[in-house]
Amino acid sequence: MLTVGVLRTVPLDGELTSSLINRVAARYRLPASSVLRLWTSRNSAARHDGGGIRADAEIVLNEAGREALAELCGVKREVLTHALPAFAVDDPKISTSQEAEVVHARWRVASTAAGVAAYGCRLCTARRTGQALRAVRYVPRGQRVCLRHGRWLLDADADQPLEHLGLRLLPEVVAAQRRWSGVARRAVHAGVEPDRAFSLAHAVVARWWEQALSWEQEEIWPRRLHQLAGGDAGSRLAWWQIVGRDAAIFPEVVAVADALLDPAMAEVAWQASGEMKPRARRADDPFGHRLGERVGRTWLGPELAADHGSPLNGWKGAIVRARRHETGTPGWPEDPWHLKREQQPATMAGQLRVMAAEAQSGGSGTRWRATVPAEQRFRITQLVEEARTAGGVARRAQRHHRRGGPHPAGAPQPQWRPDRPSPCAYRRRSRRLRGDA
Ligand SMILES: [Zn+2]
Repeated sequence: MLTVGVLRTVPLDGELTSSLINRVAARYRLPASSVLRLWTSRNSAARHDGGGIRADAEIVLNEAGREALAELCGVKREVLTHALPAFAVDDPKISTSQEAEVVHARWRVASTAAGVAAYGCRLCTARRTGQALRAVRYVPRGQRVCLRHGRWLLDADADQPLEHLGLRLLPEVVAAQRRWSGVARRAVHAGVEPDRAFSLAHAVVARWWEQALSWEQEEIWPRRLHQLAGGDAGSRLAWWQIVGRDAAIFPEVVAVADALLDPAMAEVAWQASGEMKPRARRADDPFGHRLGERVGRTWLGPELAADHGSPLNGWKGAIVRARRHETGTPGWPEDPWHLKREQQPATMAGQLRVMAAEAQSGGSGTRWRATVPAEQRFRITQLVEEARTAGGVARRAQRHHRRGGPHPAGAPQPQWRPDRPSPCAYRRRSRRLRGDA
């Protein structure tokens, strides 16, 4: 029998309740499963397709269950309420009056309990708690750098073994985290939720990340990606492109958020639009040019002008319509920071699922259904069917993708263009940057 409350275990700020329970178990030198037996649970932890329990599997408790955890940790309930975002979350299945007396727990995934989860930095966890253990915390995507240890903390919902990426060779990523604090303050002053500004900028730059495979002049990202991979992404380049994306693009995401919050950039967008006399966008679009300069790529303007599906266009459109005092037509939001569902970038977890399924099915090209929003499926299915009869599935689907639709494979794919070098140019360039071409 477990004697509770003898050892004190303090929660980390923003920790998942399940993560705290795992650490409590380690403190009592018990397997987590035997500590979990203290609570009655009628469902089980979410698992990956491969069978392992997801690191972002979260636990929601009822009143009696919360009392039991506080006792087990040897801390006051208020401490847990303050530190654990999911601690006060009620689940109707266990909080009803009939169930209230029973010490209940219910499994969820973190995103449905209190938000996006990431691995904690083990060195920081050891410093704070004396336990060098895995911890999982609710951390917004704009706060993923451990400044003390120079680490990028990865999403906890994906089926992959890494908890962090080292940033020792990438001081610009660490610097971007410091810069983000200022940009977030600027957002608050402008009446914009920092998370929304970050999400829009992240969607813009994640789209560039896919397109960069055909950008002949792009040299920054391949170098960063190899450094994140410990020197050489080598034969696992496609895997690293998924796992390293958010760390590699972070400096640009912060720069783009900063630019979009800058009234001077709104003015450039306004002037480029023709002000009160609408004019078509040109290849030398001054807005794209200025934005390119702000991310250290003076050549980027024409690439941006050619991209009609970018979330940037929604932002510009809303700014211009507001100045023209136009009301938005249906489907065109008034809010410049609104990100359409289909423009949200695929997550690492989603892309890895597609990659694993493709590998298993021998690359049938049908697994895109796993990540593509329902409304897009019909159109893509049509395209695929059309192409089957006429040949050239990939060519047609790529064309659809260029027009703004998601790629049928769901994962970041090179954008095929007849006037551009193939994706191997990226690989060739990567080799050159490593100095072994
Ligand atoms: Zn740390």
